[in-house]
Amino acid sequence: MVGADQVLSLPWLAGPLHRALTTARSHALLVQGPAGVGQFDLALLLAQSWLCETPLSAGPDSGRACGLCASCKLFHSRTHPDFLLLLPEALREPLGWGGQEAEGGRDGEAKASKTKPSREIKIDAVRAMLAFSQVTSARGRAKVVVVYPAEALNTVAANALLKTLEEPAGLLRFVLASSASEGLLPTIRSRCQPVPLGLPARGDALAWLQGQGVEGPDVLLDAAGGRPQEARDWFESGLRATAWLQLPQRLARGEAAALADWPAPRAIDAMQRLCHDMLRLAHGAPPSYFPAQALPPPTSAAALHAWAAALRQAARHAEHPLNGGLLLESLVGQGQQALFRPGKPPARRS
Ligand SMILES: [Zn+2]
Repeated sequence: MVGADQVLSLPWLAGPLHRALTTARSHALLVQGPAGVGQFDLALLLAQSWLCETPLSAGPDSGRACGLCASCKLFHSRTHPDFLLLLPEALREPLGWGGQEAEGGRDGEAKASKTKPSREIKIDAVRAMLAFSQVTSARGRAKVVVVYPAEALNTVAANALLKTLEEPAGLLRFVLASSASEGLLPTIRSRCQPVPLGLPARGDALAWLQGQGVEGPDVLLDAAGGRPQEARDWFESGLRATAWLQLPQRLARGEAAALADWPAPRAIDAMQRLCHDMLRLAHGAPPSYFPAQALPPPTSAAALHAWAAALRQAARHAEHPLNGGLLLESLVGQGQQALFRPGKPPARRS
């Protein structure tokens, strides 16, 4: 019988999942690679597979969760007693885990106040994990802790995790996932077996985006640097391929209105991508995020470097700009200088 999980919601995870299931030697795995390609999904698939009571046994699916057994059903209903998720509060809603009461999550006091949800995984969550680790496995297959994203562990929490990571009791296993694994404590990294997860093949990513109803998937996939989940999220938050294609010329004309509807971090990120592509053109390399024909002719690398520095500076404060509108206008103004040189004949493009 074919289980519901035979069909993966992110089809390109089949290979990495199979490799991880068949080569896992350590009780702790670290999924690492770019964001936006399904790290969290892969971590959950690994957890479900280890907890599954009748995992598939044939061919390339062997070891994968059946999707049908009691354990898989508990996993899907997010009530599996042998599963614990450590997630920053700020990611619970976006990842669809908002309904579940966080282990060691927001306490009553924080809930009552209007505190901004934390982007960190704090010591309380690791303490809850330690308590979880002491309890005998309810269903006897395994006990699994998923930590996502691992770089969200603050220093105190990471240090508290170390010992358990080194000598987990009984059936306890860990999956950490990170798109910034170089920022993890070396002692955390060294206790985990790496599971690399790179960009999916372009054809797979485009097929998936089409299935998600994303229009102009090729443009948006390039815009997102080949990360399909990011491209889907951008589309769902209102970005359209035509707007992306028009952005370079509009900014070259100094039209700040081109970014008016975008949240500041997204607008700054888009300008950084454009600046990156213009710098590549200036050095004779093909652009990454925009098609060459959407870009203005190559301009001075010096002006682009100055724009890049201003954008980097702005990106550091993008979450809470003092005056988002003014900041964007100034960045667009600087961008116009970098993108357009009056009096210069347009350089030839390939
Ligand atoms: Zn199962």
